[in-house]
Amino acid sequence: MLNTVFLHLNMKKLLFLLMLAFTGSNLLAQKLDRIEPMFWFTGMHNPKLQLLVHGNNIANSTVSLYYPGVQLVKVNKVENPNYLFLDLEIAADTKAGKFPITFNVKGTKKLSYTYELRNRDASASRIQGVTDKDVIYFLMPDRFANGDKSNDVVKSMEEKTMNRDSMYYRHGGDIQGVMNHFDYFKEMGMTTIWMTPEIENDEPRASYHGYSATDHYKIDPRFGTNELYKTYVEKAHANGLKVIKDIVHNHMGLHNWIYQDLPMKDWVNQWPVFTQTSYRDEPVMDPHASAADKKKTVDGWFVASMPDYNEKNIYVQNFITQNHIWWIEYAGIDGLRLDTYAYNDAEYMADWAKKVKAEFPRLTIFGETLVNSVPAQAFFTQGNIINRGLDTQLPGITDNVLKMAVYEALNGKNEWVDGLFRLYNTLSQDFLYQDPSRNVIFWDNHDMSRFYSVVNEDFDKYKSGMALLFTMRGIPQLYYGTEILMKNFSNPDGLVRSDFPGGWAGDKTNKFTAAGRTPKENEAWNLVARLANYRKNSTALQSGKMTQYVPENGMYVYFRMDKEGKGKSVMVILNNEDKVKTLQTSRFAESMGNTSSMVNIISGEKLNTIKEITVPAKTTLVLELN
Ligand code: CA
Repeated sequence: MLNTVFLHLNMKKLLFLLMLAFTGSNLLAQKLDRIEPMFWFTGMHNPKLQLLVHGNNIANSTVSLYYPGVQLVKVNKVENPNYLFLDLEIAADTKAGKFPITFNVKGTKKLSYTYELRNRDASASRIQGVTDKDVIYFLMPDRFANGDKSNDVVKSMEEKTMNRDSMYYRHGGDIQGVMNHFDYFKEMGMTTIWMTPEIENDEPRASYHGYSATDHYKIDPRFGTNELYKTYVEKAHANGLKVIKDIVHNHMGLHNWIYQDLPMKDWVNQWPVFTQTSYRDEPVMDPHASAADKKKTVDGWFVASMPDYNEKNIYVQNFITQNHIWWIEYAGIDGLRLDTYAYNDAEYMADWAKKVKAEFPRLTIFGETLVNSVPAQAFFTQGNIINRGLDTQLPGITDNVLKMAVYEALNGKNEWVDGLFRLYNTLSQDFLYQDPSRNVIFWDNHDMSRFYSVVNEDFDKYKSGMALLFTMRGIPQLYYGTEILMKNFSNPDGLVRSDFPGGWAGDKTNKFTAAGRTPKENEAWNLVARLANYRKNSTALQSGKMTQYVPENGMYVYFRMDKEGKGKSVMVILNNEDKVKTLQTSRFAESMGNTSSMVNIISGEKLNTIKEITVPAKTTLVLELN
């Protein structure tokens, strides 16, 4: 009896408190949580800036600011009173400095944010761009090397532990771990580092990959800090290395703070029931496609845990575009890789590219196009406006079709359209690109089976593949671990995202060093390093004209000709069959000119008679012309 009365009283008290809290939230409690971008820059090409302001009931306040050159053009209120969007215009001659933005609340309350405009940094060492003179090393920071144990577990994050035994959880790798291996990249002949996204992914599980952002303006504390990221780019540049940032326009993480308190319902693409993208790119370009299919491709969610941005919403557009511009200017990044390019809104992406290129003319941009034909890849690149009227403004793409053609050339049987002919045919379609040398070429990455497994762990095929990767047109990209014959099939994809052995203190082996690698792994590593370092000094392999010949007798031949005729040209011969061949060279006269001898750049062997060249079984020869 006594207990019941007690409970009854407590319930009444609780109800009263709840009512107070409910009414109180409307009457009092204006708050200012954040303004994004947190600061901006003077001297931008685009004078406009839209600040996102978030805080409880912030819309119930009047905004004012005063700073010479800065004009508050408009204060936009949206569905959710916890947001304001401030349109600013910054005159070209505005000086760097700080000024308060004040939010006056009826009564006496005043909230204030000190906004800063910083000078742009125009140093030549920043934002150099990545071209076919470069070789990209692509890695996943969580899985490469742990340079800072103190950030392995961050208690404020949803994921409370690290677990290297599970492919779904964090393994502790970080930006410091990458910085600790600059010498490793340089020795191997790599010139550029691309990591999967480093920004905060505070999800309870499986967000180590970085593609489900929860805070667009913050490096994940398990990888480091914003300041460390900036330092990483600066130190990379000081080491002669460039940096690519992996960015995602299409979606975010479910636990993203904005998704938890949406500014307006159509910030994301809403569906009556959960609808996933079909992952089909065809409806985007197909003249026979249904509107429903197209909508599903573009507006369907990537997965249930990754809400799909509504890129037709002007506030979303400003938010995403400014975020990328902020990162490039803040850190001095050389290139951007755009995730899931095909599923984005085409008009927005073209507008985005125009704006980003206007600010950073030297920046390199390429989109992920995991599609199945050359026309489909070329459709997404700039200059292709046939039957479309829209120029995507996208300079480069990830050349998935060339990758599949190389698999076929190495694993397939030579028939009219198969085997070597697939590779030859694929490259013949390069006329569809404004500039195929901007294509990023790769034989594997984090979303697919590792190359060594694709060629059934056939070491000859592996060696052939590496010879092709570093001698074809485009920007070669090597996936971490391929240089030490890491293998596995991507089912599930965690299997191709294993830790690099030696990246963690206490690892049984250290494959960053020759002593830690097996003889076969060293042979692979040395081959990669030889080819990449040779390419570094070969204008022919970097940007030389490619001439290919119709495959004959199970052999495919192409040349890379130095444009200015200063450097030495290179001849590549691929014999994909299981027998030794003799190549008669008379039909290559137009490419060979008065070549009298050649040097095998892998073995160092000199060929003094070149009328006939012996090509071992399942081998690609890379020959320098003298
Ligand atoms: Ca760590």
